Order: sequence, then structure tokens, then C-alpha cells
Amino acid sequence: MSLPPALEEHVSLAAMNSLAVPASARWFAEVTSGQELESLLEVAEQRDLATLILGGGSNLVFAGDFDGLVLHMGITGRCWEHVDGDSAILVLGAGENWHESVLYAASAGYRGIENLALIPGTVGAAPVQNIGAYGVELKDTLVSVTALDRKTGEWVVLANEDCGFGYRDSLFKHQPGRYVITELRLRLCRSRELTLGYADLANYFDGAGTSNLKALDVAQAVMAVRRRKLPDPEQIPNAGSFFKNPIVDRKVWGELKLAYPDMPGYPGNGTAKLAAAWLIDQCGWKGFRNDRVGVHNRQALVLINHSGGSGSDVLALAERIRQDVLARFGVALEMEPGVIPPDRALGR
Ligand SMILES: Cc1cc2nc3c(=O)[nH]c(=O)nc-3n(C[C@H](O)[C@H](O)[C@H](O)COP(=O)(O)OP(=O)(O)OC[C@H]3O[C@@H](n4cnc5c(N)ncnc54)[C@H](O)[C@@H]3O)c2cc1C
Repeated sequence: MSLPPALEEHVSLAAMNSLAVPASARWFAEVTSGQELESLLEVAEQRDLATLILGGGSNLVFAGDFDGLVLHMGITGRCWEHVDGDSAILVLGAGENWHESVLYAASAGYRGIENLALIPGTVGAAPVQNIGAYGVELKDTLVSVTALDRKTGEWVVLANEDCGFGYRDSLFKHQPGRYVITELRLRLCRSRELTLGYADLANYFDGAGTSNLKALDVAQAVMAVRRRKLPDPEQIPNAGSFFKNPIVDRKVWGELKLAYPDMPGYPGNGTAKLAAAWLIDQCGWKGFRNDRVGVHNRQALVLINHSGGSGSDVLALAERIRQDVLARFGVALEMEPGVIPPDRALGR
């Protein structure tokens, strides 16, 4: 086994999380290969250190410092496998930037992930919450995930059906820390049907013919729509959608719809998905701000850190919103980003 890279001590994570909240890692190392990962995890075990795998920090709230070893995923690499006339497997290292990987695939004419353009973060984090946008989820193209299983110490290749994917959900969320993802394989296809059904995308192309669209045209449309709707974390620190869209059973949906005829909802099989943004907006939170944190004035789902707020400030605001929505609609909102350390999460 090779020597692990030197650990850095007391490293600030403020520039490594998209909410830009202050936090530091007691120990920190960049991981650039599977071998390095193994040796760093061995060091953590020998020293009895808690570990955190950090990608782009765009789906995390640091509620405090991390008193352990932060492993920043830096395993790169992109290549194509099994290329035939129409389809190919895109192999991506976990430390690759997700959005750049989308553009890489779309520029080569392959379809399947173009609707997921401009989602911040790394490739390795994408399966953790089964990233999704504009009618497409990662699970639609994912073939397999290569990961180090920390429970057994073995390298594993998990097929799509082994990953327990659901709406913003996966096996990796339910067994946090067990798998360190190092590589993904995606099956992309030149002739795959484009997904243009979402209202924002349909409106974008309104009047223009869509039969000659390429994957890159769709990625660019998604980027334009997202830039109009969502604040750029580089300018206004945020963690994207702060709450998941709640899923309630059809009976509850029926009762809510009677009481609030304007309430949007998407009925499915025995359940209905509600629009968390609408619920929050109805409680008057859109555009709210105190001296440090607030709610975006165009997107009620996005909590922002506009002036030196801490993770605790963000979580305190999130809890007030959650309580309001619960009191008014009887619906419990669930947070989308993870909280570090986890025992500071809402409702604990
Ligand atoms: C402006 C904005 C818009 C967003 N829009 C969307 C959207 O449209 N759809 C959507 O689904 N999400 C969206 N997100 C959320 C976020 O971008 C995704 O969840 C993204 O996949 C997180 O990647 P990351 O590298 O930043 O993960 P991090 O925040 O670094 O980590 C997230 C979790 O994954 C774990 N993790 C990270 N890398 C690995 C790995 N290699 N192996 C094992 N575990 C790992 C971490 O430990 C942590 O628990 C948005 C966020 C922002 C800020």
C-alpha cells in the first residue's frame, strides 16, 4: 500500500460549501485515487477519526466544525466504453464536475443527462440523492456505481437496481458513510427521445420546432431557464432546493385540495407529490430576510446566506418555515441537504 498523502490540520471549509457558512475540518486530505482512499481510510481507522466525504459541498449544511477527517473527492477521469453506432457507456471519475460532464456528453451528441445541466457538485455525489431536474433523474441512465464498501473493506460494483433509487433518495442516503463512490457508468444514446415535457422547457422552445434539437441545445435551454430562476451560489450562497417536495397519500391530497383548491400537486400511484415552494410561499416566507439569512425572493425553496450567516442561522430559519407549514397544512417538510454533524439536523 502506498503512503497516504499528508493530512492538513484545521482547514477552513467556508469556500468548499455553496452556502459559504463558516466551518473547519480538524483534518483534511484530497483523494486522487482509489489507493489513496484506502490508505487515508486506514489512517482514519488507526487514529479513530470520524470521516466525511466532501464533493462540491452543494448539498450540505455545516452546523459546526467537523472534528474528524474530511476527504475531498478529487478522483478525475472521463472515457467512453462500448461505443457502437448509437449508444455508449460514459465512465466518470467521482471527482469530476457534474455540469462539465453533462456538457462533455452532450457536445459528443449523446443524450440522457442534458436536462441535468448546471446542477452543481461532483459526479460522485450524484447517485447519493439521485439528482433530478426537468423530468430526468440520474437513475434513468446510470448503469453502475463503483465504490469502496467500508463495512466489508471490499471494492464493489453496484448495478442500478442495487442502488435503491427513489425521489432524491438512494441506498447511499440510508447507509451514510458506508460506500465511498469513486466512479460511475452511464448509458447514453444518440437516438434517445429528448425529455421536453416540463413547462419551463416547453415554454422555452415554444413556437420553435423541436425535431432537430440536439442534446447540447437542450442543455443550453436548461442552463438559460435555471439561470433565470435560481440564484448562482457564487453570487448568492445557497444550497439549491432546501426542502424535498412532500409526498402524501391520495386521501390527504384529496382533503388538502378541498381546503385549498389552488394547491398544485402531482397525483401518482396512491400518493401525490406536493410543491414545497407553494406551501412555503403561502406561509409568507418568500423574500423574507433577517440580517444574515433569508429566503430567495423568486424561489421560496431556496434559503440564502446573504450576509455572513452560519449553518445554525440557516437551520433555525429552516425550522421556523417547517413549523409554519406543518401548522397551516399539516404537512411535514423534509430537508434535502444533509447536516454536518448529523445530530444537529432539524427535528433531532
Ligand atoms: C444552486 C443549486 C441548485 C441545485 N439544483 C439541484 C437540482 O436541480 N437537482 C438536484 O437533485 N440537486 C440539486 N442541487 C443539489 C446538489 O447540487 C446535488 O445534490 C449534488 O449532487 C451535490 O454534489 P456535491 O458534490 O456538491 O455533494 P456534497 O454536498 O459535497 O455532498 C453531498 C452528500 O454526498 C456525500 N458524498 C459526496 N461525494 C461522495 C462520494 N464520492 N461517495 C460517497 N458519498 C459522497 C457527502 O458525504 C454528502 O453526504 C442543487 C444545489 C445548488 C446549490
